[in-house]
Amino acid sequence: HKRLKSGKHKPIGTQDEVFSICNRDGKFFQQLQEQRKQLPIAQGRESLMRSISLNDVTIILGETGSGKTTQLPQYLLEGGYHRQIAVTQPRRVAATSLAARVSAEQGQPLGTLVGYSVRFDECVGPSTRVKYLTDGMLVREMMNDPLLMCYDVVIVDEAHERTLRTDIVLASLKRILALRNGSGSDSNAKGKAKATPLKVVIMSATLDAEKFSKFFESMFSWFPTNDDLTPNSAPVLYVKGRQHPVSIFHTSTSQNDYLDAALRTFFQIHVDRPPGDVLIFLPGQDDIENLESSLRVFAHQLPQGVPNVITCSLYASLPNTEQTKVFRPTPPDARKCILATNIAETSITIPGVRYVIDSGKQKEKRHLARIAGSGFDTLLTTDITKSSAMQRAGRAGREDHGYCFRLYTEDAFKAMAPSVEPEVQRSSLTSAFLQLKVIGHDLDAMPFMDRPDPESVGSALRTLWLLDAIDDSRCLTDFGRSLAKFPLVPQYAATLLASVKHSCTAEAMSLVALLSSSSPLFPDSSSHRDVANESRMKFRHPSGDHWTMLNVFRAYDEVCASEGKSGRKDWCKRNCISHRALREARNIRTQLRGICERMGMDWSLSCGNEESPLLRSLLRGLLQHVALLQPDGTYKQVMGPSVVKIHPSSFLMDKRSPAIVYNELVYTTNIYARGVSAVYKSFIAEFPKLTGVRLS
Ligand code: ADP
Ligand code: MG
Repeated sequence: HKRLKSGKHKPIGTQDEVFSICNRDGKFFQQLQEQRKQLPIAQGRESLMRSISLNDVTIILGETGSGKTTQLPQYLLEGGYHRQIAVTQPRRVAATSLAARVSAEQGQPLGTLVGYSVRFDECVGPSTRVKYLTDGMLVREMMNDPLLMCYDVVIVDEAHERTLRTDIVLASLKRILALRNGSGSDSNAKGKAKATPLKVVIMSATLDAEKFSKFFESMFSWFPTNDDLTPNSAPVLYVKGRQHPVSIFHTSTSQNDYLDAALRTFFQIHVDRPPGDVLIFLPGQDDIENLESSLRVFAHQLPQGVPNVITCSLYASLPNTEQTKVFRPTPPDARKCILATNIAETSITIPGVRYVIDSGKQKEKRHLARIAGSGFDTLLTTDITKSSAMQRAGRAGREDHGYCFRLYTEDAFKAMAPSVEPEVQRSSLTSAFLQLKVIGHDLDAMPFMDRPDPESVGSALRTLWLLDAIDDSRCLTDFGRSLAKFPLVPQYAATLLASVKHSCTAEAMSLVALLSSSSPLFPDSSSHRDVANESRMKFRHPSGDHWTMLNVFRAYDEVCASEGKSGRKDWCKRNCISHRALREARNIRTQLRGICERMGMDWSLSCGNEESPLLRSLLRGLLQHVALLQPDGTYKQVMGPSVVKIHPSSFLMDKRSPAIVYNELVYTTNIYARGVSAVYKSFIAEFPKLTGVRLS
């Protein structure tokens, strides 16, 4: 792995696997080539290539597992597209794992010919030609390269998911196509750009091509100056899969504990049914971890003669080293049980699955503009859509007649929404709008496939204005441009930038790294809550959760200086702290240091144990998350209408501090502020925009 760009990447797969991948004469490589030829898409190779060469935009619909994502980029590579090919994915684990697979199929180490780029992790080299990247990373790249000149082909994969970033990519591609491929204008920039036309391929697993095709058909009408162009329609090609029938079962009554229902269903399948792996769809990582540990406990108590159970999991923030486990062939005396989020619906196909257990739930980003009045999203567990339910069932019938066990009633299925609401209509637009401003897009003229909700637009603009990222006439400020350089939500980037003034960049960097980690630092473990609380108490800081988190991070840094991997893990376990969160935060912090260095910021500035500088920096980013104590002991938001309570898990000692700042709101029977610190009212008075709003 010495040839990789930064040398510190964890390889995907074991050393042996990596070795056999790179051996183009080996048996493994030959096997992969055989498998490639067998995929349904192989028959359509010629017509796909023809369509792409003749059209600016091609839309490909295909059943999941037919080979779209892994094969098409290789066809293009082998078919003479000489510059880079980008393949976007909504989720990071899909980008990294698909890149590893395609790299193996090309017989090259990952990060050479084929690489990936996701937030906080990149594995590319000077010779990289096929790059799997998250849609969010492509938007980031546009901030430096607005016409995406380094690419010959951009493949927008999983377009049916309609993530916010996918919609932004689609809207931007419309503009880029007009500038790079359009004729009609002789301006210099366009003239240069024209020399290298761009090919766009949209890939989707569901039959909603019409909308994408229409979207691009009106492409040139969007640019009134290009009226000499004939409308360019986007052909739709279908790739047929090999779907076997799937028998679907519903429960007769609704289940309120889907984890328990999934556990029982799994063991019924395991004991009663013929061989074949089981795929369980769950909403998120915590459910996956809980169910996995229960499954393991019961699997050890199985009677003699019942095959072994191998469990493995698949979710967005799964570390690279764990990813290959799901693809390892199941030994003949065992049954594999894969616990996955909706990532296994269409993005990643796992061979060997014959049984699907569908909880009917997913985690969904929701922006509660009206209640929260801020630029953050909340992850809520919601019912899936009919379209998701069908996709999930389909995963059982890839190789043979399959079975899908739905943990909900048939009536519940009938009541599901037909398909997903685009994320642009339900998530916070703050980060995205900042990025669009940097790219130079005019927000009002952005040709979104679906218009965002005016309330969210207003909320995003207000947040950016409060952060001083845009000025009174909505123009991007220098500060806003700096904010966008960090792969953080603008609020945390503002905290980090403000820390320079308060001489606490070292502390702010650790804190925002922790807050940006995908796992919570203090996992909820309802079973041994008392033990957990007691062991965490030694880190408690009277000012509240932010300094407490920082104390944990500082202690962990010391452990890292003396202990190896297992020592670090033990320390976390003893203290009931998430090792994953800390490991991820250290990685994020390293990335942030690099960015600070490039921006000429001194990241070593430290405030020692003085608490105010960090809290003042935090406030700079979280202006909208400030609440003031009311006479009845509750807190009222300064920037929103809600009355909030301090979450019971908070380490804050004085629960009647005059003012608090918090990370997020959690909605249960009450509205709780989670991640809370006490601040002085005088700190709040330092922000005229905030006091102005309060007075009015
Ligand atoms: P599509 O994009 O049409 O859904 P893909 O190109 O993702 O299809 O997958 C094609 C085939 O490659 C599938 O049969 C899948 O099982 C296989 N595949 C993808 N990644 C891996 C991997 N890491 N290990 C083994 N097989 C894989
Ligand atoms: Mg795919």
